[in-house]
Amino acid sequence: MALAGGCSCGAIRYKLTNSPLSVHACHCRDCQRITGGPHVINIWIERKFVESSGAEPKPFVLKGGSGKLHEVFFCGICGTYVWSRYGIVPSDCLFVRAGTLNQPEAVTPDVHIFTRTKLPWVQLPKDARAFEAGYSIPKVWPAASLERMQLNAAGQT
Ligand SMILES: [Zn+2]
Ligand SMILES: [Zn+2]
Repeated sequence: MALAGGCSCGAIRYKLTNSPLSVHACHCRDCQRITGGPHVINIWIERKFVESSGAEPKPFVLKGGSGKLHEVFFCGICGTYVWSRYGIVPSDCLFVRAGTLNQPEAVTPDVHIFTRTKLPWVQLPKDARAFEAGYSIPKVWPAASLERMQLNAAGQT
């Protein structure tokens, strides 16, 4: 079953037509501020696999921790932040906020990143892969995701 979701008011609806490349729980300060919570849950996926309908998400631009741009897309009516695009990511991908899924429990984080700013009362599962800051994608991702990323960078499906 495809993952689907939308914003709070329902003006933006979306469907993911492939599985996530990776699911990130990011505990950095930017994600804490944007979400107002302890961390964001981002589904990293090629943009071509995000089918959105209804209102066009509106962007604003922040400077990411990397110094590269971080575009944040939100609903112009209700303000729900539905996904981001990071300038540091080498191919055309979106980071879809898992909290906007119809069933947010359908995904679990593959990695927890920027745990150096994790709120002290947040307990990660014992077997969680956690990194103080970023991590090396080739060392962590499954082969199928690495292959998809290469195809995406080359503009193929
Ligand atoms: Zn909305
Ligand atoms: Zn973050």
